[in-house]
Amino acid sequence: MNNDGCTAKTKSRPLRNPTRKGQHYRMASAYRNFRPVDIATMPKRKLHKLWMKLAFPLTGGEPYCPRCGSVRYTHIKTRKQYRCRDCEHRYSNTSGTMFACRKLPIRDILFGIAEFQDEEDACTAHSFARKMGVSYKTAWVMAHKVRQLMFAARSNILITEDVAVDGAYFGGVLRNINVKKNRNDHRLKKFRHQNKKKVVVIVKGRITNSTILAREFVSEAEAVDWVRGCVPKDKKIFTDEANHWNSLGASHEHHTINHKQAYKIGDNDTNAAESFFSTFRVASKVYRSVSRGYFTAYINEQVWRRTAKLARSNLDRFLDVVSHIRDVVNKFRGYWQFGEMTA
Ligand SMILES: [Zn+2]
Repeated sequence: MNNDGCTAKTKSRPLRNPTRKGQHYRMASAYRNFRPVDIATMPKRKLHKLWMKLAFPLTGGEPYCPRCGSVRYTHIKTRKQYRCRDCEHRYSNTSGTMFACRKLPIRDILFGIAEFQDEEDACTAHSFARKMGVSYKTAWVMAHKVRQLMFAARSNILITEDVAVDGAYFGGVLRNINVKKNRNDHRLKKFRHQNKKKVVVIVKGRITNSTILAREFVSEAEAVDWVRGCVPKDKKIFTDEANHWNSLGASHEHHTINHKQAYKIGDNDTNAAESFFSTFRVASKVYRSVSRGYFTAYINEQVWRRTAKLARSNLDRFLDVVSHIRDVVNKFRGYWQFGEMTA
């Protein structure tokens, strides 16, 4: 970390891979420049300075009113609050951020974000709770807040290269019956939970890992308009030979690969998209199970983890997430969400 304790920028920036070819990205010396324990042991004043820079990014750490934007305030030291001199609004250094109305100390919040982003593929709420020393429910909510930050860090990504597009189905498979003669053929439509089945469609740059867009749909065919809308007209789209992708040929240069023949023929392949799904399935094994209502949040997390491998250093990864605490409207209000979609 530098002397200010923070190099945060409010907007996500293009990432550059610091590793040599063939080298695991975490082997680069740049990845040893920041550890979660650095937050745990950071001097109190430095930690406060870091938080203020993250919470008040427009003024570089100087408090401003979240209601009217005024920088004129009176510091109420006994309450750790500020009173706006223009509109009388009272606010603290967490007001308007993702962690307003917090109960955890700011050090624990930053430590939790650092720990969560530091994981390779996935972090379960149980292991996160042990690392933070909090209950399962607290850790679960905290993890979902970090997932929202991860989504914010990748939500303004623009596609600037040719893309591979593919979908993969998750869920909807019934458990096998104990006695073999009573079992059903789960390949048949009537023996699948159609309402629980989800397809994740991904648009991924063919050369770099930095451009990934992913969204869940009920069927692949539903995703055609979304794909057409997010890929610039001058870029090529590579898909498999499913019929519904053919209409992409009307607006884009469309190439297909027949997977019954080969995974790659000449320049045609969708391997870039397939590789995302292979890591996504590894992560979903770590989680054991994912509720339908929160599925998108887990997709967003995996998109971030995949692209964050190109970050220049571990500190950059951390700042890429944590610098969005003021940009995101928190959708989580405690552990109980009362059935509302929260992803
Ligand atoms: Zn004000």
